[in-house]
Amino acid sequence: MTSDGPQAMAEAAFLAEVRAFLAENLTTDLRAAGRRTVGLFSDIAAGRIWQRRLQARGWAAPSWPKAHGGAGWSPLQRFLFDRECVLNDAPALFAAGVRSLGPLLIEAGSEAQRQRYLPAILSGDDLWCQGFSEPAAGSDLAAIRSRADRAGTRYRLNGGKIWTTGAHLANRMFALMRTGAEGAGRDGLTFLLVDMDSPGVSVVPIPGLSGEHEFNQVFFDDTPVPLANRVGAEGEGWAVAKRLMQLARSNNTPAAAVRRALQQVRAFADTPEFAPRLAALAIDLQAFEQLEMRLLPGGRPRPGDDLAPSLLKLVGSELRQRIAELGLEVAGPYGAIRHWPFEEDGQSSPAAIGCEASARYLASRANTIYSGTSEIQRNLISRALVAR
Ligand SMILES: Cc1cc2nc3c(=O)[nH]c(=O)nc-3n(C[C@H](O)[C@H](O)[C@H](O)COP(=O)(O)OP(=O)(O)OC[C@H]3O[C@@H](n4cnc5c(N)ncnc54)[C@H](O)[C@@H]3O)c2cc1C
Repeated sequence: MTSDGPQAMAEAAFLAEVRAFLAENLTTDLRAAGRRTVGLFSDIAAGRIWQRRLQARGWAAPSWPKAHGGAGWSPLQRFLFDRECVLNDAPALFAAGVRSLGPLLIEAGSEAQRQRYLPAILSGDDLWCQGFSEPAAGSDLAAIRSRADRAGTRYRLNGGKIWTTGAHLANRMFALMRTGAEGAGRDGLTFLLVDMDSPGVSVVPIPGLSGEHEFNQVFFDDTPVPLANRVGAEGEGWAVAKRLMQLARSNNTPAAAVRRALQQVRAFADTPEFAPRLAALAIDLQAFEQLEMRLLPGGRPRPGDDLAPSLLKLVGSELRQRIAELGLEVAGPYGAIRHWPFEEDGQSSPAAIGCEASARYLASRANTIYSGTSEIQRNLISRALVAR
């Protein structure tokens, strides 16, 4: 993935700049947090420190336009930066704000919302969670029942959300709520920005398979939300949420996350027996990296594009699972050991390897569920292809 002539020189200079920054800013503790990552994101305290360092350098949002505080990089620069971060064990960020909500507000938010929310997303002071799914509204998201009813200058929220990743860590949530008649499907849904410390919000943890606490159930009991916190028009939240999902699917299992998974498995699977499997996965990863750069030239999918986000989500999540499956196979019987959290970094006993591999395998089962299951991605892909 290299180029010739002046472009190669610019590339080399960019890489040197990134490597110098990483060498200076990635402390031993931050690298350890990056290496220990099991699920979607690394230790939250390490992630916050890392986010602030990135922001101080102007690199907190590689795919945002410069005018909104992004790095304004080319696809190749983004790829090189992401790859170097993983190669150097940078923490994986809990970044629904940077990856999904920020770009959505840039496109569809009000000026007041952009001014209020974008700076705190970049600095990491605001962490956002996504309140879409409900017990009877997952793949069939239009079945949402939780309500937002107008009361003067506010909505009052009642009901609940489930599988809300990071709700116990986030201070804000973007939520899809029903403002119109019950059972009206995609009509009558509204997209709202909710402060998690508002009255009537409660968060109940749901332990994950791997032992990590990543997701939760969230309840609203007459929770007040100002009308000004609505994105788009009342009753037209489906279109806003659909765009949010396109943004999320195109980057929540990115090539960098797949590379991190492969690097973690390679640390203990690099033996003659498993070398061919590792090589095959590495080739698939390279193809995925190319696909990502090709499908997201501007760093995010074009509005209305269902194909690119679903392709990237499907390929990335299934590849990441195959890598975790290899890890479990390499661990053999030790993969049956479960002990969370890992006590030390860099242990290499078969038992330590087994417990890491099994935690990552169990966590990876979620890859093909969150942001829409693989079946749903295949449906969307086939619909988009038929419509061409
Ligand atoms: C780790 C993790 C994190 C998550 N984080 C969040 C979050 O932060 N915020 C949030 O709002 N949600 C979150 N979710 C929820 C996630 O979006 C839903 O779990 C997902 O959309 C599936 O919905 P469901 O669980 O209700 O399953 P169902 O919709 O009940 O699906 C059950 C099975 O039926 C299949 N199926 C359903 N409909 C169809 C169809 N039309 N065609 C073919 N097959 C179909 C599905 O593929 C699946 O295999 C998270 C989930 C996980 C696992």
